[in-house]
Amino acid sequence: GVHFKGLLKRNWLLIATIFSVVLGISLGVLVREYASLSQLHKQYFGFPGEILMRMLKLVILPLIISSMITGVAALDSEVSGKIGLRAVVYYFSTTIIAVVLGIILVMTIKPGVSQTADHIDRAGTTPNITTVDTLLDLIRNMFPENLVQACFQQYKTKPAIMSVVENITKEYKIVGSYSDGINVLGLIVFCVAFGLVIGKMGEKGRILLEFFDALNEATMRLVNIIMCYMPVGILFLIAAKIIEVEDWEIFKKMGLYMVTVLSGLAIHATICLPLIFFVIVRKNPYTFTLGMAQALVTALMISSSSATLPVTFRCAEENNRIDKRITRFVLPVGATINMDGTALYEAVAAIFIAQLNDYHLDVGQIVTISITATVASIGAAGVPNAGLVTMVIVLTAVGLPANDVTLIVAVDWLLDRFRTMINVLGDAYGAGIVQKLSKNELERMDLISDVDVANPF
Ligand code: ASP
Repeated sequence: GVHFKGLLKRNWLLIATIFSVVLGISLGVLVREYASLSQLHKQYFGFPGEILMRMLKLVILPLIISSMITGVAALDSEVSGKIGLRAVVYYFSTTIIAVVLGIILVMTIKPGVSQTADHIDRAGTTPNITTVDTLLDLIRNMFPENLVQACFQQYKTKPAIMSVVENITKEYKIVGSYSDGINVLGLIVFCVAFGLVIGKMGEKGRILLEFFDALNEATMRLVNIIMCYMPVGILFLIAAKIIEVEDWEIFKKMGLYMVTVLSGLAIHATICLPLIFFVIVRKNPYTFTLGMAQALVTALMISSSSATLPVTFRCAEENNRIDKRITRFVLPVGATINMDGTALYEAVAAIFIAQLNDYHLDVGQIVTISITATVASIGAAGVPNAGLVTMVIVLTAVGLPANDVTLIVAVDWLLDRFRTMINVLGDAYGAGIVQKLSKNELERMDLISDVDVANPF
């Protein structure tokens, strides 16, 4: 009795969220069956969900800025360098593992071989974009020329890519995927530099540090309020989505392709990541996954790792007891550049499209796909459907028609949810692993700050 009550009390939000997912799906199915809503009414229906998304997006900016700056400034530069390096090595290797896993699956299952892409008429031309161009774009993105602009405008890439991206985004009404939003990558690079400088400034830097620390706490308090609204928002978000989807038949046609992507994501989440975690951390990875449940459900419902970030923070710090100095530093970076699910998806989708076109890929092209899929996942913003749009990069790099992205767009809303969930899980595991690897440095720092506190001068 008491135990059960305690469980309920501690996890009421998770329980409420799962409950609202189930309720939302049922409501959506019911409305679909028994009421024919007009376009306008469908929009009204999704309104509470839209508000949730807006609130979550609203806190991204202060959350990322304050946590990055305080996270970096709290460590000394040598330690943050080491932690940063470990995080980047983890991000890179797990992303590559995901890509390789995806390629193996799509080459064995061959979802596109029995189908053809003939029924698609392709408009426009394929822009010529090289892998180097893509890499340079990514790096350019890291150095925004205007800090204020970086807060509300994602860096625009080459006009050739932009035009394809804009066409796709417009035609399929993909909201805010690549061309708007926040240039998070650019802001992160700035905040790391800024945090490092503040950390070295001594007394004077302290004022700034305290300011951003307070900003961080205030933002997290806002997040608490938003989280109470979350079950309501999610209920209508998922219900509205189910009402809105027009073509369910497509799921049958694209079945094998979806199975390939989903099984890849599942294997990565239940075998690859847990294995790495277990080898390094020596704790039960599935308990860790369970601790992240609230964040995973949220990611599944809102398809955005950036907007899930506040919940990821909560779960990682409160349930899995990861040190704030680690989470503040590595979670925002992870949400932006570490996207295992997206990378896996991009590799599978590109090869699937090649199969549809009867296009033979040689080994060099498969290597190109792995590299560009990795870069495209790093470059994709943590917002809905971003991975679909950066597909253009992968396709054009191996000479496939960029507009063939349209072949997979109809089922992307569903795949997007699952890959976002894996993206978030990968970030969380990363924080746990980096914490374990940085145990010595963190302990040493605690000792130093203890002495500091005891010093009357
Ligand atoms: N929606 C994904 C995310 O936010 C990105 C993607 O489209 O792959 O992590």
